[in-house]
Amino acid sequence: MTNNSYDYRQDFPLLMQDRTIYIDNAATSQRPQSVIDAEMDFYRNHNANPLRGSYPLSVEATDIYENARVTVKNFINASSTEEIIFTRNTTEGLNLVAYSYGLTNISAGDEIVVSIMEHHSNLLPWQMVSRQTGAALKFIECEQDGSVDLDKVAALITDKTKLVAMTHVSNVLGRENPIAEVAALAHAKGAVMVVDGAQSTPHMAIDVRALGADFFAFSGHKLMGPMGIGVLYGRRELLDKMPPFLSGGEMIDSVTRDGAKFAELPHKFEAGTVNAAGAAGLDAAIKYIQSVGFDYMQERELAVTRRALEGMKNIPHVHIFGSDRAEEHTGIITFAIDNVHPHDVSEVLIADGIAVRAGHHCAQPLLAYLGVNSTTRASFMFYNTEEEADAFVKSVASVRERMGYGE
Ligand code: PMP
Repeated sequence: MTNNSYDYRQDFPLLMQDRTIYIDNAATSQRPQSVIDAEMDFYRNHNANPLRGSYPLSVEATDIYENARVTVKNFINASSTEEIIFTRNTTEGLNLVAYSYGLTNISAGDEIVVSIMEHHSNLLPWQMVSRQTGAALKFIECEQDGSVDLDKVAALITDKTKLVAMTHVSNVLGRENPIAEVAALAHAKGAVMVVDGAQSTPHMAIDVRALGADFFAFSGHKLMGPMGIGVLYGRRELLDKMPPFLSGGEMIDSVTRDGAKFAELPHKFEAGTVNAAGAAGLDAAIKYIQSVGFDYMQERELAVTRRALEGMKNIPHVHIFGSDRAEEHTGIITFAIDNVHPHDVSEVLIADGIAVRAGHHCAQPLLAYLGVNSTTRASFMFYNTEEEADAFVKSVASVRERMGYGE
């Protein structure tokens, strides 16, 4: 795997250890040395509580943190840094929207629309808003191949719809959803569009304005950045009117015995000491992605995903969920093998040194719709190789025999 004959795997210390064939990237990616260095550099050379002190170290810490915000703003084409809120992860960003926007703007008689393919992180917060407000929760269904019928979506979004929440890419089917089209339908009815970008940000260029996202949440750890840092983008006009999600230090302008004036955006939504080292790592991860380029990353992911899919199609008793086309998988292959429990499939792969995920993938309503309780999922990143795809296919092909079934 080379681009101008450079082997990107050497940027990843853990991959160089050759401990495992790591194809559980949808759960979390590996990190390049530059990300590890950036996080360490913060603690070694610039550590102080950001946004507080006026002495040089604290100013340096603040600059690192705020420069990361500029990098994120440009990465997703937001209009201003005020629209970029640092969170812990996607889950926290979506909960922020649910508690702060949802509970104050949605009431009984209103409707919330989500898709059947949501990760629980973009479902449970809306179930909570529905329960607390009395608003109805409605579902955009998908077809067996993971596509959504926009006519059905149009029929589902009504004058009562206040919010539509949808994942950009399903973490089970890997298919990209037509977010811009769904957002246009939502906006035509005056509803806001919430997008879960956890699985899209590691694989494609994001333009939140072109997507028509009013809110867009993602996690650093899936795009080669550190764990514990995530981003919520929100349109300024909406964020300005929203109450804080958490309160305490950092997020105030002034406090009296019985009240407080909140800080301006984005700090209004960043209560307590922030994860500046994580932000430094995320900044480095985005710069790493930009140095490799999404074009090259997509070309590699597609080649490896196609190789695995083609190999799997020839194995009897193996069923792949979602589209037949590698282009519609974003590196994710979720599959089942007749009569073998997905955890047993995973155990066989583990015995061959391959790391995949088995279970419900935090998307139980989608799995119920697909008619299964659990599945096995392989997920590729640009640094995976054809050799790894071949080893994976070979291992999958051997599962039934090793579990005691004949041909
Ligand atoms: N949404 C999707 C589509 C995901 O794949 C994940 C991670 N599995 C999440 C949300 C939650 O991300 P995090 O655990 O980083 O909050």
